[in-house]
Amino acid sequence: MKAVRIHEHGSEEVLVWEEVSLPEVKDDQVLVEIKAAAINHLDIWVRKGIPGISLPMIIGSDGAGVVAEVGKGVDKFNIGDEVIINPLLFCGTCSSCLDSQENQCSSMGILGETTNGTNCEFIALNQRSLNKKPTNISFESAASFPLAGQTSYQMLINRAMLKKSDIVFIWGASSGVGSFGLQIAKSYDCKVIATGGSKEKCEYASKLGADLSLNHYKDDIVSKVKDFTKGKGVNLIFEHSGFETWSTSMKILSRYGRLVTCGSTTGPKVSIDLRYIFFKQQSILGSTMGTLSALDGIMNLISDGAVTPVIDKVFPMENIADAHKYIENSNQFGKVVLVP
Ligand SMILES: [Zn+2]
Repeated sequence: MKAVRIHEHGSEEVLVWEEVSLPEVKDDQVLVEIKAAAINHLDIWVRKGIPGISLPMIIGSDGAGVVAEVGKGVDKFNIGDEVIINPLLFCGTCSSCLDSQENQCSSMGILGETTNGTNCEFIALNQRSLNKKPTNISFESAASFPLAGQTSYQMLINRAMLKKSDIVFIWGASSGVGSFGLQIAKSYDCKVIATGGSKEKCEYASKLGADLSLNHYKDDIVSKVKDFTKGKGVNLIFEHSGFETWSTSMKILSRYGRLVTCGSTTGPKVSIDLRYIFFKQQSILGSTMGTLSALDGIMNLISDGAVTPVIDKVFPMENIADAHKYIENSNQFGKVVLVP
């Protein structure tokens, strides 16, 4: 079979579409023929070099496909089943997993980072890593949401306990997690304020349902949020930027407000005035990846049509270098998908 592998870290040139041996299928594993995979920024970081990655590695976290072979101990899938791959690796037996907190598994990992990933023609996975694909979701769409959609669902629903009455503030609504976060909040009928870094990105946020779209480089966010919320501030902030957005977030968060964060792309060190946190009784919630329930949750919202994964462009997998270049050099809206 063929796969996208890196043998060293670096620019797009280190991505090689090459012949590798077909993975051996263990008793509890399912061999999936990949029909579509998607690119996340994690893939770019893995390519450039994250500590602890063993090389060579097949990259890619998201994928969907068809069951091609099942091991002797597999009881949930049959050859021909259409499946969505969960990028979260978990043991299924530790206390966190038994408590349905798979994203806190003591041996948690991510496909394409801690082990070979989805940018390939076939992948062997434990059956607990697979979900049956609803028939009304295409392979391209199915491959485009697991990592980002599951992360957003975990943040808003499982961690921040999203309520219909919340006014939700989404930073960077054109990002993968941001666009899912915005749509999840709208599917709960919340009022949503979303930001983008350009006129086009603000228009995109409005198209996804934002009630107010703000340019986070140009607009006076604090005063616009005050106007929109009649001085109360927002109840829930969806944050993945860190340093550059933090002080504004602290100024616009309401009494009893929750801020949920899954990343710090502009820097991890921020300052907090604890007087505001305790006096306003605010909560800061960390979140990473998502539980099985989060993947089910976002999959159901998509299958019901309440959330729509946006696909910007589809590349043949062999043109992986062009696809990475495209992501790094352009302001794409939505996911870049790969097909073998
Ligand atoms: Zn576990």
